[in-house]
Amino acid sequence: MILLVTLFIVVGILLVWFGRRIVNSAGVADGQIVYMDTHGKGRVTKSLYSKRLGLSGKPDYLLLRKGVHIPVEVKSSPMPIKGAYRSHKLQVAAYCHLIEEYFGVRPTYGIIKYSDGTYNVEYCHELEKELTDIVGYMHADISAANVIRSHRYLNRCLDCSFQIVCGDNLTR
Ligand code: SF4
Repeated sequence: MILLVTLFIVVGILLVWFGRRIVNSAGVADGQIVYMDTHGKGRVTKSLYSKRLGLSGKPDYLLLRKGVHIPVEVKSSPMPIKGAYRSHKLQVAAYCHLIEEYFGVRPTYGIIKYSDGTYNVEYCHELEKELTDIVGYMHADISAANVIRSHRYLNRCLDCSFQIVCGDNLTR
């Protein structure tokens, strides 16, 4: 029993240390980690939900900086040459939105931690508007009888869980 408890403590310490290492590296230094998706440390253990957008999700990490929660999204790939992809920025914008609705304080930015550096995504009103529009299109697509495929990537279809029911499936 004592061995098991010791093991849990050691694993816990290692997770905190590893998380700290991730956010400390390449410029994500300041701020207390209040949540890690790996083991639910801190106040946020369930997905955050936005009633306004009908959206839910959890960032990989939440930092608390000067009373404001900042989402950190970790990508295993290197940073794209031209900076973060639009889809990555929108993902962080979604977390910023969820955080604002949950905590009542708007983060002015979120962080994407790539394997070789970090990218700060400014959570400005233009990006929020883009997010709101995209989520609106998504909801419309979800309730539509038929949605036209928006890409030509076979691999994407190969990995897709809608493959069996999708009439636009590229694997056929
Ligand atoms: S199987 Fe259909 S839904 Fe899935 S990625 Fe391909 S086109 Fe999109």
